Amino acid sequence: MVGMNHQHDSLWVRVNGAAHSFGRELGCTCARCRTVNHHLAPAPDRLANFSGWEDPPHRANTSASLLIGDPSGAVVGHVLVDAGGGVVDSLVCAPIPGLGDISAVLLTHRHRDHTGGLTQLGESLRRAAHASGRDFAKVPLYCTLPTHEDLHKRGGLSQVLERCFDFREVAPEKPFTVDAGPAAVRVTPLPVVHGNAQGAVVYLAEALQKKVLFAWDIDTPEAAFPEGRTNLDVFQAHASLLNRADLHLQECNTWAAPGKGHTTYHQSRRYFDIVAARRTFLIHYSGHEDGPGNPGYGWTDAQWQAAAAQEGIDAARQGMVMQI
Ligand SMILES: [Zn+2]
Ligand SMILES: [Zn+2]
Ligand SMILES: [Zn+2]
Repeated sequence: MVGMNHQHDSLWVRVNGAAHSFGRELGCTCARCRTVNHHLAPAPDRLANFSGWEDPPHRANTSASLLIGDPSGAVVGHVLVDAGGGVVDSLVCAPIPGLGDISAVLLTHRHRDHTGGLTQLGESLRRAAHASGRDFAKVPLYCTLPTHEDLHKRGGLSQVLERCFDFREVAPEKPFTVDAGPAAVRVTPLPVVHGNAQGAVVYLAEALQKKVLFAWDIDTPEAAFPEGRTNLDVFQAHASLLNRADLHLQECNTWAAPGKGHTTYHQSRRYFDIVAARRTFLIHYSGHEDGPGNPGYGWTDAQWQAAAAQEGIDAARQGMVMQI
């Protein structure tokens, strides 16, 4: 098509999953576990803004895709941030051309709800390439050394890592560039305290003059590394980079009850103040960790959205797609 060039490429984010570790809990009688929306709006078959699904039958772990779109609405560059359970199935639910080509995977940390889908992801891409007679190119996999070492310790995963992925070491606070089709995505990994997960980072991605912050999983602003530096110190040290981000996806494991390794909504507000993003969404929200009888406990996706809306923000929904 005449006039089609990279200047007309656009930046998008798809929320592949918004759930914390367990999605739904078997045997639980809370509203979050018992509310299942079987009437889902069809997902657009091209890149287009889409509000996603509330309480879908299968919840995927927290994950997002940074997408470069061409003028036809196809994906021409795809950086996947985290690959926990349900993420491959979630991607398959969006019939957007090119979404199945992954330029690179970024892992925030070692926990299973962020890495447990790597086998399905890697093997499905490898098998799909072979089935269609294409050569399979290993997918660049960016993570810190502690995260990579932990993956190798897991039974069966070493083989998948070697067969399907090309490890690229991430060093905290050392920006790197990821090739995503026609675009170069500059990624800055920020070290964060997240419980006992060594080598945890959050990522600030810059592409096509836009900035997106993927801020999960992260402990409280006051949580400190052994040498005394806190999460808030890290954010403040990078304030000019983070400030005025176009999109900020922020973990919110609880609404108000303090929890180990994670942030409450109320604690997250200190991060919001530094980032002051154009749009902010809660993600990795749970509905269980607040404890029975407390605000947040048993909240459905719609209830999380309603609570977030009162604060002038939003709660991410599985499958949502937004132009940045
Ligand atoms: Zn429940
Ligand atoms: Zn975690
Ligand atoms: Zn997590």
